[in-house]
Amino acid sequence: MDSTHFDAAVDKLPRRRVGFYPTPFHALPNLSAAYGLNLFMKREDLAGPSAISGSKMRLAEFILGRALENGVTHVITQGEYLTNSGLQFAAACLSVGITPILFLTRNVRRHGELGEFRGNYLLNKTMGVETHVINVGDNVWHSPDEAARITDAIAVRKAELEAQGHEVLVVGTGGAHPDGYIAHALTFREMLEQSDAAGVELDYVYHTIGTGTALPGMLAAKLCLGHPVKFRSISIQRFNDGDRMNPGVIVERTKAVLATLGAPVPDDATIRAEIDIDQRFIGEDYAVASAESTAAIRELARAEGVFVGPVYTGKGLAGLLDHARSGRIPADSNVAFLHTGDTGNLFEIPQVVGHITA
Ligand SMILES: *Cc1c(COP(=O)(O)O)cnc(C)c1O
Repeated sequence: MDSTHFDAAVDKLPRRRVGFYPTPFHALPNLSAAYGLNLFMKREDLAGPSAISGSKMRLAEFILGRALENGVTHVITQGEYLTNSGLQFAAACLSVGITPILFLTRNVRRHGELGEFRGNYLLNKTMGVETHVINVGDNVWHSPDEAARITDAIAVRKAELEAQGHEVLVVGTGGAHPDGYIAHALTFREMLEQSDAAGVELDYVYHTIGTGTALPGMLAAKLCLGHPVKFRSISIQRFNDGDRMNPGVIVERTKAVLATLGAPVPDDATIRAEIDIDQRFIGEDYAVASAESTAAIRELARAEGVFVGPVYTGKGLAGLLDHARSGRIPADSNVAFLHTGDTGNLFEIPQVVGHITA
């Protein structure tokens, strides 16, 4: 499929513009010199409409585009209390006149009871968003009982709103919704145009993977546009066969995006061979600072004056830098890091952020 057909297929889909696209793509000259690579950054953290944005804004544009056509008045979504996704959906909903509602889980053993408002939670409160905080234990991502408790709470609120005559859409954790996965096909499409303009052919794209919303679209775009780039995903949670998030989920979502684009759908093994997930940078737990991530945040800030965050992008960048040091990325490769957001979490509690100033 050529890019003209690709663009035509995407243009047919419902979409409500909220962000500022294309997002910037730029070189990281000092880090490049330090590692003997050509490093670039794709700035989904600058997607708007505020300075604290992220990769979920693109999903929101497509999901809300259809929701508006369907007369949706309220969007309920869920995530950890420091979710970036929830923050982006809330901002997007407000800007298009839909009421956002967030169900937020908090691991009280790791992070304590909710006290002073900080980070993304503070920003959600500033936007006046209806939030419901549910205290959970360590295994919320893997326990069916914990998941059911949250799903039930959402169902109750949804029923209340529907009884009042409202139209409610529930969007899964991380903005997981079939209308959204196409969004990051555009991210890769933009990156190709921007890297072409810079006179480079990308060898690798690194990004942080969590709920599997960005990789399927990017992979689908790579496959249907026939580009040789390799994606390397650094995970912030377990991502094996049998886990809640697993490579099979990525394969299914990638096939769905290809079908939406009207592109040929290769067999599962072909798609699976494109997936490369490194789980060595999770650290102790989700949203718990790791030494590598803290060091990566500092290193980027000191080299380039650019900030990544402690929950997602610091861990992702730590993976990239480790691969660069260990020679997993060949010298002089053209490498882009997808900055998916997370900077609001730099203003969280020390358990989340670590000690980045020392
Ligand atoms: C959701 C999120 C991720 C993980 O992305 P997925 O594409 O959902 O796997 C990474 N970084 C940030 C800032 C996010 O909000």
